[in-house]
Amino acid sequence: MVALGIFGGTFDPIHNGHLAVARAAKNQLGLEQVVFVPVGTPPHKRWQPVTPAEYRWRMVSLAVADEPDFVVSRVDIDRPAPQYSVDTVRLLRREFGTAAENTFFIIGADALNNFPRWKNAAGIVAQCCIAVVHRPGFRPDVQSVVAAVPQLASRLVWVEMPPVPVSATEIRRRVGQGLPIDDMVPPVVAEYIVRQRLYVSE
Ligand code: ATP
Repeated sequence: MVALGIFGGTFDPIHNGHLAVARAAKNQLGLEQVVFVPVGTPPHKRWQPVTPAEYRWRMVSLAVADEPDFVVSRVDIDRPAPQYSVDTVRLLRREFGTAAENTFFIIGADALNNFPRWKNAAGIVAQCCIAVVHRPGFRPDVQSVVAAVPQLASRLVWVEMPPVPVSATEIRRRVGQGLPIDDMVPPVVAEYIVRQRLYVSE
């Protein structure tokens, strides 16, 4: 049976931190495949404008093209909003045919504190394990998170990774200021950002 990693994100843009997360999760959890799931474009601006989904999907596709065990899914792009993770996991498990104990939803440590506020967090945990990857500068309050979602206690796994202090926010800022981002994203992604003139007006 396939052990599957599901890695959701805005990926605006995908960067070397994301790729390191996916590689660490794959190696430590023995995953056969990691599915990158770019979020859909929010219908209205929430806290900041997000680059349209097609550009973000394309950047993820370019970044993983040479990694045979990494795939990109359009599941959160092609279905109508709101795209909740609880449904994403259900749809991908159906597509890939994975059992709950063999499905890992991968998140960075900064995302864990927010997990209890996700739509039907207990429903997510019923369908998969949550694999949390350490991220520099973030120390999640695991006790509070597990108190809020007790089912998580037996479903939480940690993934160790040498810190990659990169964020998409920092990349957008640097591009906006005309600074290089070559050591932060794969070369194909850097070229795409220049070609499409992304992030220049920020
Ligand atoms: P932004 O700066 O725009 O908020 P981001 O760099 O955090 O973006 P996302 O696409 O929001 O990127 O992240 C997707 C997932 O990857 C999240 O779970 C996040 O915690 C995790 N992640 C992103 N960058 C890193 C990193 N450098 N180390 C560990 N986890 C990361």
